[in-house]
Amino acid sequence: MALLLCLFAAAVAGAVPRMESEVGVSIQPVGAASASGGAGLGQVQVPGGRTPATSVLLEFTLPATGEDESRWVIWMPRDPVDSIVLTRGEDWRSQPLGFYRPGTTEGLLPGGYLFPLPSAWEGAIQVEMHIESGVRGSMSPRLIRESEAMRIEQYGAATAAMVYASLFTLALLALALFSAARDRMFLAFFAFSLLALLTLATINGHLYQLPGLGRFALWGGMGLLALAFLFGAAWLQMLMLYVGLAASLPPAKRAIDGYCIAMVVGAAVCLLDIAALGPWMQPFATAAWVVAALLGVVMLVDAGRRRVPMAWPLAVLCLLTGIGGLLMELAARGQVADLVLIRYGYQIGIVVSAAILAVGLIGRISEYRYQRDRELLARTDTERRMQREASRSNLNAELQTQLRSLPVEDVEWSAFRLLLDHLMPIVPTESASIVVRGYHGQDLLVVEPVSARQVTELQVERRMLTLKRQCANGIPLQQPVTSEGSQSVVGTEAIVPLQIRLPAWGGLVLRRAGADGFTTEELSLASELAKLTLLQVDQAVAAINLRRSAEVDALTGSFNRRTIDQWLSRAFAEAERDLQPVSVLFIDLDHFKSVNDRFGHACGDFCLRNVASTLRAALPEGDLFGRYGGEEFIAVLPGRAGAAARMLAEQLRTAVENMQLDWSGQALQLTVSVGVATRRDGESTPAATLERADKALYAAKRNGRNCVQVAPAVFS
Ligand code: GH3
Ligand code: MG
Ligand code: MG
Repeated sequence: MALLLCLFAAAVAGAVPRMESEVGVSIQPVGAASASGGAGLGQVQVPGGRTPATSVLLEFTLPATGEDESRWVIWMPRDPVDSIVLTRGEDWRSQPLGFYRPGTTEGLLPGGYLFPLPSAWEGAIQVEMHIESGVRGSMSPRLIRESEAMRIEQYGAATAAMVYASLFTLALLALALFSAARDRMFLAFFAFSLLALLTLATINGHLYQLPGLGRFALWGGMGLLALAFLFGAAWLQMLMLYVGLAASLPPAKRAIDGYCIAMVVGAAVCLLDIAALGPWMQPFATAAWVVAALLGVVMLVDAGRRRVPMAWPLAVLCLLTGIGGLLMELAARGQVADLVLIRYGYQIGIVVSAAILAVGLIGRISEYRYQRDRELLARTDTERRMQREASRSNLNAELQTQLRSLPVEDVEWSAFRLLLDHLMPIVPTESASIVVRGYHGQDLLVVEPVSARQVTELQVERRMLTLKRQCANGIPLQQPVTSEGSQSVVGTEAIVPLQIRLPAWGGLVLRRAGADGFTTEELSLASELAKLTLLQVDQAVAAINLRRSAEVDALTGSFNRRTIDQWLSRAFAEAERDLQPVSVLFIDLDHFKSVNDRFGHACGDFCLRNVASTLRAALPEGDLFGRYGGEEFIAVLPGRAGAAARMLAEQLRTAVENMQLDWSGQALQLTVSVGVATRRDGESTPAATLERADKALYAAKRNGRNCVQVAPAVFS
């Protein structure tokens, strides 16, 4: 910004005409007698409107032009006039120049009208100047050397070029910012910069130089005023957007919107080009600008109080630009000297304001990005939390449904597998394993992926004591993993202890390549899922045990009478439905009371356990077996009738007879009697069949024991 201001200052300073090479020109109305003819900068007042051309007489004394000196020229700033021509009697007439129809000899960015005088002229000269203009203004013709005029032109061109280039760059910047940040504010700034560029190029008379844009000359001075109105409105709109007036002070925003609409109406009136309004529009436009600048200042001061970035410098610049515009108007009325600084000052003010506005907007981008980053962080955080929550509830649900249907010895292993399956997608690892010792009486090592099992097994064996200590520690920890035999770090290992009651212990061992390690969040998540898994395992094991105790006879481990009764009913219903036979065997130990009496109850229990397991082993897989009470067992044989059932009963009997039992060095000889009954047609419940089996058993006892008795169709 400072560099830009220095460049502007240099260009403006260069464009100031040097007095020493100037000759005074006296300006007289045509027909008046020659007056003072002395020095002093005279001004020609141009009334504007549809009046006939203004003509004045320029009087001056030309010094002789030396060999190496450039010729004299009449030069005046480029005010918006339709045409200017200089004549001297009948013998000399200059090329006519005009604001809207640039001459072919003028450069691309002319700063003034330049009329070379014939080099032969010398001494007292009178030249008539004819001016036609649609807008009021004042012209200050100066008589200077051509070289000096060219110098002024060049500096003027440089200033104008800088103004345009700056605005163009700002417009491009705004477009780039819009495409990056998608904030409508940048689009507004883009439109504002382009409108500023168009307005200034038109006011400076450079727009019509461009091919194709000459047709804007159609509106002449009124077109200029229309643009000035529009630009004022755009400036106010831009500022309101920037300071966020709509949010901070809605009534003020509505009032300023109304004012902007009035300015747009002013622009439309200008474009209608109503002759009667011609002389009035110029002061109107100036007043509109001054008011717009003041409104801008008020808005920015308020914004500065609200700590809107760049509001204070913008307020100062807005004020200066407003003053610059006012001075421009006064210069046009001839009330202040038409200095280069006045001519370009407000334009520089506009450019610098736009640049500061851009800086402020860029500041907003970083604010915007900061906010977006924060939102993004919050979103990923929420997503992570949701993912975490989802994996936790999924794991919980799967543990609940799967563990209870498993045999008790498979519960831990399956639970830990599920834990790894759910943990690995959210905490990515190279390998993960779970080591437990003595948990529900089990030692387990679950490794994922399975290919890492062998290596892990070896490592765990070697580090068992360290692992135990680290797990007993209770809090997750991580450590670098170095490669075998060297010090270079190849990965990170995290150990997440499992909260198991001593003396059992266990831990989750997670490995990740690279030295980055695990985040605290990952470790706490692993901890949490592990805790959940253990809770579910404990509950599942407890539930399974409870169920088993209800179904199973505690002494022999075979089904109890309650379970057998349930199974019996089911077996009978199925047999009736499928038209299949089913047989029931009652097995009773012979003279068992005497075993108790001779060797004690402990020996009796020992015998019952052994007889139960022998009978169970002798029965095929599909048959049911249980303890019916005391020293009496029952077998249910679905699909077997008569001879087949008898054969199986015989096998059971011999199995017990052949048992080799030893009680404290004493060999025990046990035998059983078996009663067999097969379901008969019409027996849909087991009661009748059981009764016949019972009777058959008694018959077997009566027959001398250690034998099988099949129930007849009807007992006599
Ligand atoms: P029998 O050949 O007529 O069947 O003679 P038994 O002695 O086996 O007949 P009884 O039904 O009179 O005796 C059953 C005995 O079984 C009575 C009881 O002492 C014993 N008994 C029943 N339940 C248990 C048990 O749970 N443990 C032990 N040790 N003995 C039991
Ligand atoms: Mg008995
Ligand atoms: Mg008995």
